[in-house]
Amino acid sequence: MLSFVYDMLPGRVVFGAGCLDKLPEEIERLGATRALVLSTPEQRQDGQQLVERLGARAAGLFDKAVMHVPIEVAQAAREQAKALGADCCVSVGGGSTTGLAKAIALVSTLPILAIPTTYAGSEMTPIWGITEGGLKKTGRDPRVLPKTVLYDPTLTVTMPAALSATSGMNSIAHCVEALYSKEANPIISMLAEEGIRALARGLPEVVKDPRNLDARSNALYGAWLGGMSLGAVGMALHHKLCHTLGGSFNLPHAETHTVVLPHATAYTAPAAPEAMSRIARALGAASAAQGLYDLAAALGAPTSLASLGMKASDLDKAADIAVQNPYYNPRPITREGVRALLQDAFDGRRPA
Ligand code: NAD
Repeated sequence: MLSFVYDMLPGRVVFGAGCLDKLPEEIERLGATRALVLSTPEQRQDGQQLVERLGARAAGLFDKAVMHVPIEVAQAAREQAKALGADCCVSVGGGSTTGLAKAIALVSTLPILAIPTTYAGSEMTPIWGITEGGLKKTGRDPRVLPKTVLYDPTLTVTMPAALSATSGMNSIAHCVEALYSKEANPIISMLAEEGIRALARGLPEVVKDPRNLDARSNALYGAWLGGMSLGAVGMALHHKLCHTLGGSFNLPHAETHTVVLPHATAYTAPAAPEAMSRIARALGAASAAQGLYDLAAALGAPTSLASLGMKASDLDKAADIAVQNPYYNPRPITREGVRALLQDAFDGRRPA
């Protein structure tokens, strides 16, 4: 019998090729007049173009966003926002840049208008993360959820094929775990299944021809659904493992998600048959875990932890850390099970 809790998150989404033209009116709609634009050093040009588009509505550009939001960068951005009298933040970039906007919003009342250029999905979540003294602290706060998100696929055509593949698999991971989340509910499960379908359809075309706007639209649409899934319900074993591998062994974020996902799915499969059949159906595959592995391989993405630079001698330590704090997973977590899963991921073995 159906029984669930569903918390709907607020937010306005404007989607479509060329929708960036609506930026000035969307800023006005927020009641803002002095926007601080944020970017990474690599996407400085994108940031500068937004400043020009905004004209008198731009307060300035802060172009020092980096991975995992170091506290020093967050402080510098907060100070610049204050010094310029900014009344909103416009982030253009991936999860790192959205994350920096969130660090500002966490200690102010500045609304965020996010313009995502990867498939990470952070723009749809109230989750923030800040790294201090080598440790990443994360939390949930409604203040950091962007008020408006502009999804313009034309901004994603410059995303290199390799990043598109792993960032897309990262988004699929949000959808996969939403389907067997402790808080799973029928609405989010529908979105999550559709997200996998859209990404599995778009990504192979994107990798073949990164400038294919139709494929880019499908993939970005899927990434939106992946972000909504991540923001609405809790994640499980897969996200815990990726957090451990990224935090303790410095493995790259999206690549690690790509490698671990088929193995975390195979581990969980016996305890979540309905989720597995929905994942397989969305992938057009006979098995969820094998379908995910085959998709990553077809995209030319990494399939083994060894290829990401993980050392075989660290696998025991990784398994120990991953089982330290109990957390939800449909199939209970054992040290032995996680160690075997990590070995398979290390070797890049196709799930049985
Ligand atoms: P990223 O934001 O670090 O971007 C990687 C690099 O690609 C950067 O140099 C960036 O400038 C560049 N780039 C981005 N889009 C591009 C484009 N269209 N064309 C050319 N270059 C482009 O990578 P990411 O994977 O999007 O984000 C990862 C970070 O986001 C991690 O720190 C992760 O923890 C965080 N994250 C947070 C949440 C959340 O809900 N809080 C969700 C997902 C990810």
